[in-house]
Amino acid sequence: MTGRHLITDAQNTWCPGCGNFSIQHTLKNVLTDLEQEGEDLDQIVLVSGIGCHAKIADYLDINSFYSIHGRAIPVASGIKLANRDLKVICCVGDGDAYAEGLDHLIFAAKRNIDITVIVHNNRVYGLTTGQYTPTSPHGFKGKSTPMGTLEYPLNPLELMLASGGTYIARGYTQKRDQLKSLIRGAIDHKGFAFVDVLQICATFFNMTSQYNPRVYPLQEYDRSDAGIACEKVREWDYNSDAPIALGLFYQRSALTFDEQFRHQSLHGKERQILIEEFLATRQ
Ligand code: SF4
Repeated sequence: MTGRHLITDAQNTWCPGCGNFSIQHTLKNVLTDLEQEGEDLDQIVLVSGIGCHAKIADYLDINSFYSIHGRAIPVASGIKLANRDLKVICCVGDGDAYAEGLDHLIFAAKRNIDITVIVHNNRVYGLTTGQYTPTSPHGFKGKSTPMGTLEYPLNPLELMLASGGTYIARGYTQKRDQLKSLIRGAIDHKGFAFVDVLQICATFFNMTSQYNPRVYPLQEYDRSDAGIACEKVREWDYNSDAPIALGLFYQRSALTFDEQFRHQSLHGKERQILIEEFLATRQ
């Protein structure tokens, strides 16, 4: 299938100004580039969870699986392990991935499952009209916490670094060129690729005026150095008014879960070929 428009005719119900539009159009542009480079888009699968973000599965005209809350990552992992030739992109929300589905996220990173996880991190449950999530700041006042949440947010990048993620990045819906290159890099990466996207929720938690003066692009450093990456991801804890670095924080190559599985089940010459293939990718 070629020359697809990639946006479906489904009625779009996102609020005006929602950052989900940026992610949708950025992903569409990445897919268009891939198609122009000869990639068969039928070999790409989009998996979404539940929440405002998840409607992207309705709005992008590619193979997709609209899963259930918190379970998009195991669905994506299963698809990849069943057919390793597919590229699997998993769009999830912060409530989806950092609350109910957190264990799946950690284990997908730990196993280095070869999927791309894009977190639409608006730091609020938008679809259910404004409750706090694991990345909402301390004191966030929403429907379930009218006096302010007593919890501090978790830092998803630090968590992914500790869990074994092999591509860890942060983007922002108002920096679309950079977001495009981060998503493209994640799709090209072999292994578990994680992109936390600061997504504006125009209706329940519009952080535009707080983010815009504070975001800056990460400077050059050795992206395979976990120590430096750890320092960088800790600069902002998702709670303070510190500057917010955007970009690729960490990347390393490692055998993926499906490669290890093949490894285990192959013997003799086939096994040696696989090892040589892997070593060649590291040169
Ligand atoms: Fe977007 Fe927020 Fe509206 Fe949901 S509630 S569609 S996240 S602006």
